Formats: sequence, C-alpha cells, structure tokens
Amino acid sequence: MAAAAASSSSSSSSIPSPRPFSPPSSILIIGSGVFGLSTALALASRDVFAQSSITVVDRSDPSQPGAFPSPDAASVDTSRIIRADYADPAYAALGDEAQVQWRKQEKPTDLGAQGRYHEAGLLLVGDVTPPAPAAAPASEGLKPKLTGMDYARMSWANVLSLASKDSRLAARVRELPNPDAIRDALGTGGSSGSWGYLNNNSGWGNATASMAWFLDTVKQTGRVDFIPGTVISLTHNDTTVTGAKLSDGRVLSADLVVVAAGAWTGGLVDLAGQAVATGQVLGYMDITEAEQEKLAKMPVMLNLSTGLFIIPPADRVLKIARHAYGYINPTTLNNIPLPLSPQTRTTSSTTVSLPRTSLADPSLSIPAEGAADLRRALSEMIPWPALRDRPFSKTRLCWYSDTATGDFLIDYHPRWQGLFVATGDSGHAFKFLPVIGDKIADCIMRDCPLEFRGKWDWKATTTTTVAGSGVTLFTKDGSRGGTPGLVLANALAE
Ligand SMILES: Cc1cc2nc3c(=O)[nH]c(=O)nc-3n(C[C@H](O)[C@H](O)[C@H](O)COP(=O)(O)OP(=O)(O)OC[C@H]3O[C@@H](n4cnc5c(N)ncnc54)[C@H](O)[C@@H]3O)c2cc1C
Repeated sequence: MAAAAASSSSSSSSIPSPRPFSPPSSILIIGSGVFGLSTALALASRDVFAQSSITVVDRSDPSQPGAFPSPDAASVDTSRIIRADYADPAYAALGDEAQVQWRKQEKPTDLGAQGRYHEAGLLLVGDVTPPAPAAAPASEGLKPKLTGMDYARMSWANVLSLASKDSRLAARVRELPNPDAIRDALGTGGSSGSWGYLNNNSGWGNATASMAWFLDTVKQTGRVDFIPGTVISLTHNDTTVTGAKLSDGRVLSADLVVVAAGAWTGGLVDLAGQAVATGQVLGYMDITEAEQEKLAKMPVMLNLSTGLFIIPPADRVLKIARHAYGYINPTTLNNIPLPLSPQTRTTSSTTVSLPRTSLADPSLSIPAEGAADLRRALSEMIPWPALRDRPFSKTRLCWYSDTATGDFLIDYHPRWQGLFVATGDSGHAFKFLPVIGDKIADCIMRDCPLEFRGKWDWKATTTTTVAGSGVTLFTKDGSRGGTPGLVLANALAE
C-alpha cells in the first residue's frame, strides 16, 4: 500500500492535505514509556511500515520481569487517573476514545481486565478563591491562563457534551454545588473545594500492570526489537540525525529516530522553550484491611486549585499526590544535547532541568513543603484521626515533561532531518496509552489529527526567562497547584 494512501487524509479543500510520506526503512524509538511503547505498537500494526525495522531502546532491561519500563519512568506506578474530564474538548474527546479501550474487561486479555482498570468515579473540584501559593509570583508572566475552578467548570461542560451523546454516560454525572454536596459524594467525612462534580464514568488504572500488558501486546506483534541501554547522545551528520550512541559505546543507526524519553528528553535534544522536566511529589500510606474496606466506595478525588489528589486504595496502600508546577532540577551536562539546529554553535557544557530519582539516589526524599501539602490533602479529603500522623511508607519524586500550555510535543524537529520527538506529557498522558500511539503514527506520517495541529507542534519560540523567577517555562493550563519556579535542591534544603 502506498504510504500517502495509507494515511487518513481528509478531502475537504479547507483542510491541508498531509504532506507526502515515505516510510523509513529503520525506526529507532528511544524510551518505552506510554509514548514510546504506544508508538511502537501503532507502527508495528500499520501495513505502511511493514518493511520498516522497529527498535525500542530503554534504560531498563525488558527481559527482566518487573524492570520494564524503568521503575522511575512516569509511566510506572500503582495508579493513574483515567478520565475524559478536560477543559479542552480535544483532549476530552481523546480521553473518551481511550476509555472505550480501558473499559474492555470481559476477557482476561482485555486491557481493563485483571484489576488494570477501576471505574471508581472521579470527583473533580475547584476552589472559588484559589489558595495563594506561599511565594506568590508577582510577575504577570507567571499567571496561569485559567484558574482551577475555570478548568473544572470547562471540564464539566465538556463532560456534559460527551454525555449528551450517550444516555448511559449522562446518568452517571452529577453536579456538586457546594462543600456539603462534595462531602456526601466523597463518603469519607472529608471535603475539598467549593464547587465540583462527580463523574462516575472516570476512574483509575494500575499503571505498572497496564504497561506490562502493553509490552506483551507489542511483543506479540513480533515486529519490535527491544534493546536495553542508555542513550548518551544522538548521532548525526551535517543535516540529519542518524542514530543514537549508548553509554557502553554501541551505536544504533536508524533512518528515523523518535525520542520519547519522557522528562529525560531534554538531556538528548535541546528543548529550550519547548518543555522542561518538573518533579512532582507522591506519598504512599499503608492502611489496614478495615480502613481499605471503609474507602471501598470512595471515588478518585482531585482538587484542581491545589493540584492535590487521592486515588482509592488497593492492596492496603493509599496514594496521595500533587499535580503541581513541580520542582526544576538544573543539571550541568558535559554531553550536551543535540543543539536547536545544525548551525547552532555548541558549548562544552550546558544546564537543563533533568529528573533526579531514587533509582540513582535511594536516600532521596520529597521536600518538606511537598510532604506538608500531601498531609493537607489527607486532612481535607480523609480526615480520620488514625491517619493524621501515620508516616508515609514510601514517598517518590516523579517527573513530568512540562510544556507551557500542557499540550504534548509530538512533531518532527524543525531543523534536523530524521528526528521526531514524542514528549511534553505535561503530567496527563497515561490515560491515552491505548490511543496515543496511533495519533503519533499519524503525525509521523505527516497527518497529525486536525484538532491537535498547532497544539502538538514544535513551537516557534525563543527561550525566555520570566524576570526574577529563574523559570524558563511553566504550565499555565489551570490544572496546577503549588508554586511555580521551585528548585529541587533549595526545597530539599529547607
Ligand atoms: C506523579 C505523577 C502522576 C501522574 N498522574 C497521572 C494521571 O493520573 N493520569 C494520567 O493520565 N497521567 C498521569 N501522569 C502522567 C503520565 O504518567 C505521563 O504523562 C506518562 O507516563 C509519560 O510517558 P512518557 O513515555 O512520556 O515518559 P516515561 O514514562 O517517563 O518514559 C520515558 C522512558 O524513557 C526512558 N529513557 C529516558 N532516558 C533515556 C535514555 N537516555 N536512554 C534510554 N532510555 C531512556 C526511561 O527509562 C523511560 O522508560 C502522572 C505522572 C506523574 C509523574
């Protein structure tokens, strides 16, 4: 089948046609998280790529059970929220599309079966008066475009619109006009936010188990080679990226390199002005069987003004987290990332925000500021005296690749041939695991879905630092809590 014919182009004269596309003979995907693995499956499933070799390289070793993807990847955790509750209708529709796959639970081999998906409901709320961050930034440039309440209300409108097309969905959403209604719906005795809604069509997925399921599915295609190894740099000639060099000296060559290395991507490709790695706090608390039983009917609870959320417990562990501006971790690199263009003069070292995780540093804990916020979530949302002072059994810093708008970055590099980036997850990509690969494959075939054109593009931006903040970029989509511009090392020292 001809490549151009295989793409789902539109014939309308007002819609630009996809540019001609010839499949590369070899494709190297760096990173096996949601973006990398989902892309591998989509490419392996399309006739147009039947003659292309597909290789996935990751820091982890997929032949080792339990070590795939790397345990510190954003895609690996006990749970992730699965929702179509978005302020932006394009993501709401994509979430709705993904949920069709998550809800498949009849056969053990279905994505949502064996405890991989739980439709527990989602209670999404906002505060009328958002809490002022401790160090509220004075600069206009640091103000988000939307408040958490704006986001919640726009999301409600989108959810109603989706539900209007399906009466089964409509019967399962309900507005909660005040804190008492929120308290009743939460069922723990706690409450959070001043307005919100309950969407019983949403829920949560077991991220680790779902990634393992997905890896098996990709392997069953028999089309993808998995190579354990750490990429230290991209190889290139004057105009074109030609492959990747690994830390053990091996070089993997490919006609097309897809960098899907999550928050680590900025260490391989200069993402100045595009995306920045931010660390987010998580706390896990052991609870008793009886406590878990009492929380059996609790929905996922997310306050978009504070970013604080709690996911219903499983295996007697309760997870509390914060969707925040996060911490940046400026790191000086001698292996400098691929520059913005072949003409860019390179320096001997550079500083970018990169993940710091407990895999390399087992003594790493979360900053006291973040831990205090997680405690605040617990005392609001599950105000039980028995939990108030119970220590977290584990904490974690988990890393987003944040863009300014919260849109993903899924595009060919504008200046280097042979290079495609699939990153900028902005802390909300997990739910799209079953569908994002197909959209990425469309973009690789130069036929990005219309509703995401402009959103997922490499942005024509110059790097700017908001005066006095030290922040080069932060996400202004209205869904974040915390304070912008916190530096991890400083926060840990406090
Ligand atoms: C705390 C937290 C809570 C979240 N909650 C939700 C939620 O509720 N719902 C939701 O939908 N999403 C959520 N997300 C977001 C979601 O988890 C991410 O958007 C998604 O997992 C990102 O996938 P990724 O493939 O971009 O990155 P990752 O999963 O991080 O994968 C990147 C991969 O690249 C590999 N890699 C990196 N560098 C190299 C290198 N140099 N060489 C070789 N391999 C390399 C890594 O080992 C890793 O396996 C959350 C994220 C976090 C951190």
